[in-house]
Amino acid sequence: MSSSAVSIPSRDRLRPPPSGTLSAPSDAASSTSANGVMPDNAKSVDVHLSHSQCRIYSGCSLQWHLSRRHAPEFVPSGLIFGSSFHAALEAYYQARLEGREAALEELTRAFSTHWADELAGKHGHPPAPVRFTAKDEDEAGMRALASRMLAAFLEHQRQHVSEVIAIEEGFRIKLDSKLPPLVGKIDLIEVETAPDGTSRLCLTDFKTAARKPTLEDLGSDQAQLYGRAAFGMGLVSAFRLPLVLRYLVVTKTKRPEVVMVEVENSPRNWRRLAEKIRQCWRGMRAGVVFPSPSWRCSGCGHSRLCGQWPVMKAAAPPLAASA
Ligand code: SF4
Repeated sequence: MSSSAVSIPSRDRLRPPPSGTLSAPSDAASSTSANGVMPDNAKSVDVHLSHSQCRIYSGCSLQWHLSRRHAPEFVPSGLIFGSSFHAALEAYYQARLEGREAALEELTRAFSTHWADELAGKHGHPPAPVRFTAKDEDEAGMRALASRMLAAFLEHQRQHVSEVIAIEEGFRIKLDSKLPPLVGKIDLIEVETAPDGTSRLCLTDFKTAARKPTLEDLGSDQAQLYGRAAFGMGLVSAFRLPLVLRYLVVTKTKRPEVVMVEVENSPRNWRRLAEKIRQCWRGMRAGVVFPSPSWRCSGCGHSRLCGQWPVMKAAAPPLAASA
């Protein structure tokens, strides 16, 4: 985490594991049984949940299970593109924290460096070949697309007045006594000032999208979680400003656009999300895994193993990166 001179209440700064490497109950290293149930003697392992793992589990529980134990056959280009673009935005806001404006070249360089590091397995995922999704897609074309998207992002920032408070801010919150802590990180915390001089505390999650998304496309879960974390971290009481939860989306269209999508901070939405997390936990803990074929299958690096289900070899222990 990096932060400006503005003070943020002290809190647990555990940085969550990279996407896809959650320590959920069945990740309890060698103490996990073949059906994914965590034995009671696994108490010394730092067991926690993350939103990204609940999202994968609720999309396809078998994919979640396999990704905990087997290196993927390939990594879809969209996944590497998304994390590399995220790294470029992080570089932009890091420069702002240091009191300077990053140029397009610096951001495209951050994108390329992250891309290369992902392929080399430096971000917690085992090295695996990239599978380009579209027929005419290649690495050079994706770099060019990233550069156009970053140019659109920089243009958007010119119209935007804010003070960056923190980037990649880790959190660890407890939903209830029966659940392990929920960990994550908030991409961006900033105080935004409108032309009329009013300020808001904005928590933003970065996303890329094939087209201009609606809130329905994005879902409110991740932003709701940020809101709950902000209360838990004391951010809301420290700043005493209206809280805004939102997504900053840069489209991968021919002419990229930057879209801000705000999410209502509603107790009802939060109750639904909290219950969803509880149900995911119950399923993970009980070893409930089965295939859920969908549009996700084309980007799933475990489809060969999935084809063997339910006749599979005894589950291997979780990959070292996820322990
Ligand atoms: S191929 Fe599809 S159904 Fe099978 S594990 Fe992957 S996402 Fe799930």
